Amino acid sequence: MLKINQLHKSYPIGKSSLHVLKGIDLEVETGEMVAIMGSSGSGKSTLLNIIGMLDEADSGDYILDGVPIKNLNEKKAAIYRNKFLGFIFQSFNLINYKNALENVALPLYYQGLKRKERQEKGKFHLEKVGLLDWAHHLPSELSGGQKQRVAIARALAADPKLLLADEPTGALDTTTSYEIMEFIQQLNDEGKTILIVTHEEDIANMCKRIVRLKDGLIMEDKKVNQVRASQYV
Ligand code: ADP
Ligand code: MG
Repeated sequence: MLKINQLHKSYPIGKSSLHVLKGIDLEVETGEMVAIMGSSGSGKSTLLNIIGMLDEADSGDYILDGVPIKNLNEKKAAIYRNKFLGFIFQSFNLINYKNALENVALPLYYQGLKRKERQEKGKFHLEKVGLLDWAHHLPSELSGGQKQRVAIARALAADPKLLLADEPTGALDTTTSYEIMEFIQQLNDEGKTILIVTHEEDIANMCKRIVRLKDGLIMEDKKVNQVRASQYV
């Protein structure tokens, strides 16, 4: 699914620079569910954003689904992003003035689907996350867990090969976090490849593999016995 080789990334700060990723090697196969862990500031989001083509590495190789991701122009990058990737964020990143269905259907607009198809697909995915009855509600009328489920439906709408989640449970209470994780586990059961950034051990243990970042490098990469979220909800 993806292969990363000797990835480096620095951010300029004044006249010097902050070397955040110092040679990351990572391979992820189709169907995996991987937690990316590390303390705050260890570069988890930076790595995920590069994997998600929201940011670019300074050096190193990144191959996504057989395609070398390097020096792509904005238009090409957007096409790959839309085709391959779905994103879930800690703060949901829903559009406040659009209702749940419109939020879910938006990525389909960029895929060039007609309005009727967008509506139908949007409803299908809202139903999958159990929120069809909330289709016409604005994000402000939804709970945190509901907002995240809308965001998951949106991420899935364009049927991405790879789902990227940056602290998806970071803004949720424990029970709601586990409900969201149960849902994400079900997606993985169905074959979706998933990368989750988290700094919570219990969330990481609900994945199948844990990659730990420290000082810009991977200090540990191990398979784990997946804890099922359903036993807690
Ligand atoms: P994490 O997600 O593990 O908390 P990040 O990848 O967000 O870490 O950040 C890693 C380091 O890079 C932090 O020290 C952060 O302050 C810095 N950083 C992140 N993004 C930028 C940016 N756009 N410009 C400058 N520094 C940044
Ligand atoms: Mg982060």
